[in-house]
Amino acid sequence: MSFASDVRGELARQGVADACCARSELSAALLCSGGIAWRGRGRYAVTVTAGEAATVRRCFAMLKQFYGIIGQIRTLSGDALNNQTRYQLAVPDDQAAQLLDALGLLDESSLFGVRAVPPEETVRFACCKKAFARAAFLMCGAVNHPEKGYHIEIAAPTEALADFIAQQFDYFELNVKKTRRKSKYVLYLKRAEDISDMLSLLGASGAMLAFENVRVKKEVSNRVNRQLNCDNSNINRAVSAAEAQIRDIRLIDAKIGVDKLTPDLRDMAIARANNPEMPLAELGEQMDPPLGKSGVSARLRRLGQIARKLRGGEESEL
Ligand SMILES: [Zn+2]
Repeated sequence: MSFASDVRGELARQGVADACCARSELSAALLCSGGIAWRGRGRYAVTVTAGEAATVRRCFAMLKQFYGIIGQIRTLSGDALNNQTRYQLAVPDDQAAQLLDALGLLDESSLFGVRAVPPEETVRFACCKKAFARAAFLMCGAVNHPEKGYHIEIAAPTEALADFIAQQFDYFELNVKKTRRKSKYVLYLKRAEDISDMLSLLGASGAMLAFENVRVKKEVSNRVNRQLNCDNSNINRAVSAAEAQIRDIRLIDAKIGVDKLTPDLRDMAIARANNPEMPLAELGEQMDPPLGKSGVSARLRRLGQIARKLRGGEESEL
């Protein structure tokens, strides 16, 4: 099962609280699944087609409970191009126009008498706005598994419908983006926080938690990796600087003997030689009198200059 079908499964199992929401959800289901066909002379064929049986059963239950209509469910087997079983709920022909009328979708001034989007009163309440968005996702929504990258979308069949769906999200301050893909108008979100907000707004709180778990794990492991890389390179830099200092000190000792250095430099050379991995600040504390970090690095630099001169065969001024 994909993450997207988990989300749809969770949404399809939500209870339908009120008649207002059932009206909104059924309107979205019919319009988003492109299930209203004109048959001439005020007659229509009305169906809801979806990839999940649970979605179709949900519509069946709402039709029966709130409109007293007993629909017919059938299975559509996949074709050669798309080997996916789909499920269809058909409203009896003699009740189709009556249902469209009850949903407020009939309008003589519209093309073929059916509105492209429901009247505003359908989404008057916040609960109905959510219900509309939920059904739109159930019918034409998709979401990536968070492991695979962040993307959630609703691909509406018309621009008017896409805009209407976007308005419902706007109400909850979720600003979806819109793009065109082939014949569809696609609303989408790409930011992890927004996707999480949308899942929870739609009512898929289980999926939202699963999404957040993956997201947090990904972010923590990214941060840990960045931190590790950074620490490693700092440590590597410090270690290689200390290694060079030790080499310089051994060279100085071999060529002229550390005893010949000034007392300041001699003490520093001996302290470094005995503490190859000690940070500069701690090295300074070993000195008598104690020395700050910059004083330590000045002396180490001085030892480096002496070693460079010795390597070059020059006479050093000690
Ligand atoms: Zn409602």
